[in-house]
Amino acid sequence: MDNENILISGASIAGPALAYWLTRYGFRPTVVERTPALREGGYKLDIRGKAVEVVERMGILADIRQVSTGMKEGTFVDRNGKAVVSMSAEFFNSRQEQDDEVMRTDLSRIIYERTRSDVEYLFNDSITSITEGQNGVAVTFERGKPRVFDLVIGADGIHSNVRRLVFGDESRFLHNLGAYISIFTAPNFLDLDRQELYYYAPGKFVSLFSAQDRSKAMSFFFFSSPPLSHDYRNIEQQKGLLTSFFSGDGWQIPRLLKDVWDAPDFYFDSVSQIHMDRWSAGRIALLGDAAYCPSPASGQGTSLALIGAYVLAGELALASGDYTTAFTRKRQKAPGFSQGDRWRRKPAAAGRPPSLDRRQSLC
Ligand SMILES: Cc1cc2nc3c(=O)[nH]c(=O)nc-3n(C[C@H](O)[C@H](O)[C@H](O)COP(=O)(O)OP(=O)(O)OC[C@H]3O[C@@H](n4cnc5c(N)ncnc54)[C@H](O)[C@@H]3O)c2cc1C
Repeated sequence: MDNENILISGASIAGPALAYWLTRYGFRPTVVERTPALREGGYKLDIRGKAVEVVERMGILADIRQVSTGMKEGTFVDRNGKAVVSMSAEFFNSRQEQDDEVMRTDLSRIIYERTRSDVEYLFNDSITSITEGQNGVAVTFERGKPRVFDLVIGADGIHSNVRRLVFGDESRFLHNLGAYISIFTAPNFLDLDRQELYYYAPGKFVSLFSAQDRSKAMSFFFFSSPPLSHDYRNIEQQKGLLTSFFSGDGWQIPRLLKDVWDAPDFYFDSVSQIHMDRWSAGRIALLGDAAYCPSPASGQGTSLALIGAYVLAGELALASGDYTTAFTRKRQKAPGFSQGDRWRRKPAAAGRPPSLDRRQSLC
């Protein structure tokens, strides 16, 4: 196998999932993550369609089922908190067959735990330069010593550092859909039990739910807005923006806007998509939200990341590490892979990677 020594930037979903498959196929991945530990936070994430089969093949479906949110019901409330209409969570989320829903933190932790003994993780660091040569990629880091890798994969999210360093400024690829979201943990002061409450106002939406851990609730804020010129790393500034957009609103919003200042896991971002003509350049490629973020509004980002990781690692293995062939095939085959249903008819045993020949025929 050629090009075994692979650096992945980003340890959320796409990065560790890719590391899992690369290790199984005999590569040696290293994952660098900017935050000092696995990043917590985020709302409920859907695992749908083919992605369910990917996690089954990773041997983590049972772990995922154990931490499934198990949501029972959603209720729309008015500005006084009076219930307007309730519906079952299954109906509201239009989930099908084996689809599941987990907290982002839980899914990220499960994949990390599955890979941590076989994969080198470098937390609290970030790539500062990437220089491709004939025989590898020279990488410098904010903290660690410079190193040379065979390949570099950017799985570092919608504001990808690798994409900026190799493909150019984010403004060329990011399409703001005209809205913002914020997600943070709050006390479960309404004693919700696998219930979600939704509050709508013109151009605004807020929800609150509690799932497995009833000691806390998760709140979700959404508002329409033309693009804001905010710093996506400045959390205090983002909390201020959220507070001013929702000041004077009804229901439990005043209470949540007090809680936001103590939230341990505040997340704020635009609802945006990433559009790129190509996801690779030489020995460097992008994966997950870094390459093709469909926006949090789609509910598909996690499934696409999981499937993309599976396909990319499989193509590298099929091509015996020949990255030119693998990156081209990944680009050509990933869309067909996610649309077809041939694979669904032939489920594999849990945890077993598909044979490479069979993978090829399925993509
Ligand atoms: C904290 C958080 C909360 C989220 N909440 C939601 C949500 O509620 N709903 C939803 O639909 N989607 C959410 N997302 C996005 C969702 O995780 C992705 O759409 C999807 O799972 C694909 O994941 P990804 O691994 O490609 O990207 P992401 O999940 O965005 O992960 C990118 C990773 O790269 C890391 N990173 C960033 N910059 C660098 C750098 N310079 N060097 C090294 N590492 C870096 C980040 O810290 C992160 O761990 C959230 C993402 C994060 C990070």
